[in-house]
Amino acid sequence: MRDLSADRAEDKCGVVGISSDENVASYLYASLRILQHRGQNSAGIAVSSDQETIKAVRGMGLAHEVFNAENLSSLTGRSGIGHVRYPTTGDDMLENVQPLVLSSGVGDVALAHNGDIVNSERLREKLEDEGWAFFSTTDTELVIRMIVNELKDLIDPVKAVRNALKRIEGGYAFTLMIGSKVFGIRDPLGIRPLVLGRIPGGFAVASESVVFEMLGGSLIRDVQPGEIVELTTEDYVSYSAPSLGEKANCMFEYVYFARPDSVIDGRSVFDVRVEVGRMLAKERPVEADVVIPVPDSGRTHAIGFCEESGIPMSEGLMKNRFVERTFILPDQKAREAGVRMKLNPIRSVIKGKRVVIIDDSIVRGTTMRQIVQMVREAGATEVHVRIGCPRIIAPCYYGIDMKTRNQFIATGRTEAEIAKEITADSLGYISIEGLVKAIGSKHAELCLGCVTAEYPTRVPGERMRFQRSIESYSESQIRHEVATRVDARIDS
Ligand code: SF4
Repeated sequence: MRDLSADRAEDKCGVVGISSDENVASYLYASLRILQHRGQNSAGIAVSSDQETIKAVRGMGLAHEVFNAENLSSLTGRSGIGHVRYPTTGDDMLENVQPLVLSSGVGDVALAHNGDIVNSERLREKLEDEGWAFFSTTDTELVIRMIVNELKDLIDPVKAVRNALKRIEGGYAFTLMIGSKVFGIRDPLGIRPLVLGRIPGGFAVASESVVFEMLGGSLIRDVQPGEIVELTTEDYVSYSAPSLGEKANCMFEYVYFARPDSVIDGRSVFDVRVEVGRMLAKERPVEADVVIPVPDSGRTHAIGFCEESGIPMSEGLMKNRFVERTFILPDQKAREAGVRMKLNPIRSVIKGKRVVIIDDSIVRGTTMRQIVQMVREAGATEVHVRIGCPRIIAPCYYGIDMKTRNQFIATGRTEAEIAKEITADSLGYISIEGLVKAIGSKHAELCLGCVTAEYPTRVPGERMRFQRSIESYSESQIRHEVATRVDARIDS
């Protein structure tokens, strides 16, 4: 169920996989609650009770709405995977809820997926022409069927997985079970996050490191781009693919999606957001009396902004935490009222002041316009807006719900025009270079597709990054190059 009063890029999915010498259902359930911010539409857990059989419980809603003592106690097994979902590909229906489970010649197979497969439509059409039938509309089913198909001829699960993945392009992190074996798999450019850690009694992979910490364990490292990791109770086995020499970690994980208490690529998300705030204050200074973060998304950025600018921070917007997900409103007018139900200004903080509102990003801009108006009506003499993500101008093809250019307020507008649209006295976004510097990574090691319109993989109709434009490469040249590089990786 989508919160229609929301004006934000929706979270993607969260995945987890565990192998332990204890029953894993309660660990998986706890992990899904920790990762709940990554997907609120559905949740599922699959566990292996013996070498071949996998049992799953899946349902629509938040993890605590799907699971109860009864169905959790029916899930007995020492290895399992879990998933929380916000649908990015496929409809919002029970058949699409993950983990998906299928039978194969070597036992049941279960798959949980975060991300999007860019060439899924083409592949699905091809396989349907070959007589394959699909029961859901997700690209996850496509992948699990391809893996099951490979397992017909290959007993080695890693080889079967690699053969299946050869044909897919996109950003993905999978947790996979083949019988009782648990695997974590990350796309060749590391677009979607996946980390490896220790938990009591075993090992785990998850979308975010905070899972290990909260389960009483610790982060070991990020799963490398293109790597397959197999978990056992005593250890983990890495089937590393030789690096393509390229990386493209999603910058939006740092800016907005990941929890601030997570660590990505050795960098604390909290520290990165504080640094983004500092950079924003340096790049887009403003004279003001008080900094007000949009709760909760702008809070960490505001800390850095205040440290750098010397302007004090105050809680000027109060959030009602009980009208979140289920506050469904049918039309624009009702949605506008919905923002008011969620946020209320504190007049004593705002009245007579020059206010800077800080948030992590602007997608459509409707909520920000209402916040600006709300703050003005509460007596602010000036309202300035500062944003910790560059202008979002292009869709995401790797699992974030930002699909069409016309949904973005920044499309076809200058910064001054956007400021006018949201009725702010001034607006300032962090620059792309400022963001890259604040993250502490290299430009070439990040996916910045939604802010540059240049993508790290081939996307029909879009430019590839590194000046490798669609125009300069014929389709067949690109196809040949990608296939050669992937084959070389797999063979060696
Ligand atoms: S396009 Fe944007 S949101 Fe999508 S993976 Fe790249 S950086 Fe992340």
